[in-house]
Amino acid sequence: MSLQTASGSKAETPIIEFKDVGKSYGPLTILNQLSFAVKPGEHLALIGPSGSGKTTILRILMTLEKITSGEVLIDGKSLTHEVRNNRRKIASEAHLRAMRADIGMVFQHFNLFPHKTAIENIMLAPVLTGRLSAKDARDRALQLLAKVGLSEKANEYPARLSGGQKQRVAIARALALQPRIMLFDEITSALDPELVEEVLNVMIDLRNETDMTMLLVTHEMGFARDFADRVLFFEQGRIVEDGPPEEIFQAPRHERTKSFLRKVIAAGHRV
Ligand code: ADP
Ligand code: MG
Repeated sequence: MSLQTASGSKAETPIIEFKDVGKSYGPLTILNQLSFAVKPGEHLALIGPSGSGKTTILRILMTLEKITSGEVLIDGKSLTHEVRNNRRKIASEAHLRAMRADIGMVFQHFNLFPHKTAIENIMLAPVLTGRLSAKDARDRALQLLAKVGLSEKANEYPARLSGGQKQRVAIARALALQPRIMLFDEITSALDPELVEEVLNVMIDLRNETDMTMLLVTHEMGFARDFADRVLFFEQGRIVEDGPPEEIFQAPRHERTKSFLRKVIAAGHRV
């Protein structure tokens, strides 16, 4: 549903919307009435101290975590709830599976299948979900391997790839289902410094070549600044500051953002 704004221009339906989302583990509150919206095609960097809830947000979107209160919408449709028998209910597994089809995720530790080659890792989901024949899945996997610069590694097993190469295969695998939303959780944190750049370059190319909506959690502030058109700074499950990278990195308004950035610089990261 699109809303007509006062100016007469059409407001776009957010592709992602968190509405008063709460998430707790027992007595421990992780997210507290968290609300934010993401426009289609936006490239967001989620930054903030360890434990501030960034991974939890991505895992909720990936339907790996259930929320405790509130609602999450994808393209105006509830991810977390559905109407069954005229009643609004917590989403079933089938509903979650259908909604998840639009979303891909890349993890810090790659999570490649070790007994499958690079190309088999990439082909698996399109074939298992019945979306592509084995031949079409192979063709797409080859295209994706070329996109991430790994055509010559198609038949290697993960154990024979460097960390940067594994992460590029993981990115290709997440792209194989052609998601509209891609989530990246500290994808360079487990890499040796000299391997970080090849992954960042793939990410910048992706951002420039596709209209996917991308959410990136990172401790690399320089990368956040180059990649994102919007930065959210989190602390204790709340958004402290939300703005374009120039503003967040050059002229942060909140003392907590400033002090976080000082700590990150002191830890040796480029800002
Ligand atoms: P971030 O990614 O920003 O470092 P997380 O989303 O991983 O933060 O974690 C937010 C908080 O939730 C942390 O305090 C973490 O210890 C807690 N947490 C995450 N997963 C669980 C869990 N399964 N059980 C209990 N606490 C958890
Ligand atoms: Mg995390």
